Amino acid sequence: MIAAVLSGRTHADLDRQSRPDTTTPLKPWIRPAKHLEPTFTAANWRILLANSGAGEADKSELYDARAQEQMERYEHNIENYIGTLRLPVGVIGPLRVNGIFAKGDYYVPLATTEAALVASYGRGARLISSVGGATTGTLAEGVHRSPGFAFASTTEAGLFVAWVIGAFDMLKEVAETTTRHGKLVELSPHLEGDHVYLVCSYTTGDAAGQNMVTIATEAVCRAIEAHSPVKPTYWFVEANFSGDKKASAMSFLGVRGRKVTASVELPGAEIEKQLHTTPKRMEDYWRMSALGGVMSGSIGVQGHYANGLAALYLATGQDAACVAESAVGVTRIELREGNRLFVSVTLPNVIVGTVGGGTGLPTQAAGLNILGLKGADNARAFAEVIAAVCLAGELSIIGALCSHEFASAHKNLARGKA
Ligand code: NAP
Repeated sequence: MIAAVLSGRTHADLDRQSRPDTTTPLKPWIRPAKHLEPTFTAANWRILLANSGAGEADKSELYDARAQEQMERYEHNIENYIGTLRLPVGVIGPLRVNGIFAKGDYYVPLATTEAALVASYGRGARLISSVGGATTGTLAEGVHRSPGFAFASTTEAGLFVAWVIGAFDMLKEVAETTTRHGKLVELSPHLEGDHVYLVCSYTTGDAAGQNMVTIATEAVCRAIEAHSPVKPTYWFVEANFSGDKKASAMSFLGVRGRKVTASVELPGAEIEKQLHTTPKRMEDYWRMSALGGVMSGSIGVQGHYANGLAALYLATGQDAACVAESAVGVTRIELREGNRLFVSVTLPNVIVGTVGGGTGLPTQAAGLNILGLKGADNARAFAEVIAAVCLAGELSIIGALCSHEFASAHKNLARGKA
């Protein structure tokens, strides 16, 4: 590839092109705006129309009448606002869920531009609901921030660890002055040389909680700075030990957000009728794919949780980037007596909320209303429904792979257009 890129160009050409350019005038700066105001938006559109590839038609798409009227609703969710994006939303269901917190039949909105996704999840949901629904459970809760503290020596770091464990009650009180719903439940110090990573774990009520734990942990760090008998030489509120926005072994073994599970036992006849394959072949597939996952080094073993999670997170105002940590877990399939197939999913890192974040935005709130899970006291039920949705997705994709319908379904639904 490098040879192809270099062909026909001299070393001097490349050298000129890759050198920092401080002489050509920079294009105009986008006007940074923390507050949303039509004048700032108009100014940024003027810059874009004159200096980017976007034209008036693009402006009308992004900054249409609705995007102008509803500007205020986005005040706490975006900076440098230039409009809103339209995403197609499909719906599946009813998905019957028999859970500890979720109980009932749910219609599930999924926002995606990926053809076949909604159809596939819908097929899985139909199968689950037709046999009485998925059994779900919320197994654990916890959102973490992991400040890092540097000390002058390993001895000082050790003394700090001894002190901070004893200071839990004081630090919990400090953390909880910043939030009504966030509760500091654990401090877990990890010592590396003269550094200490202090994993602070919280429950966050019905919020996903990332802002909540950041604000509370900042207060914890200030209290540590003021009261610790050994002072850190420097500290950071987050030292990358929390698993925020990345799949990590720690979060996989423990919890990040909510750890949820969903399972179903399917009669062979229903699998044959609805998935056009057999329980035996699905177990064969699972065995081979589980080993494939192990050999490729994936964290957990699952097929495509990310598809359903991304579509559901977008449709309900969740932080879509958290699919990075949420889309890990374990899918298990077992052939049981009487040609019945047990299928389960367990996801330890479902980090979602039914309040806060983007959940109050106009179309995202509508998504949560379709589920009937907007607002307080719904977050655990929401997490359980998410597990059931992932179960539906796993059933459908495994069924399609077993019946050799995987390629044809995508060909039929996604192709045939320019
Ligand atoms: P948030 O909207 O910042 O905070 C939730 C708010 O809802 C709090 O003011 C909380 O009040 C209030 N609340 C009312 N009723 C509640 C209830 N029943 N349960 C829980 N809270 C309730 O949202 P967040 O969940 O803390 O943070 C999520 C956002 O953080 C996402 O948009 C995500 O993109 C972003 N994020 C931030 C970071 C970061 O490091 N800052 C990292 C990743 C993602 P109280 O606090 O008084 O309880």
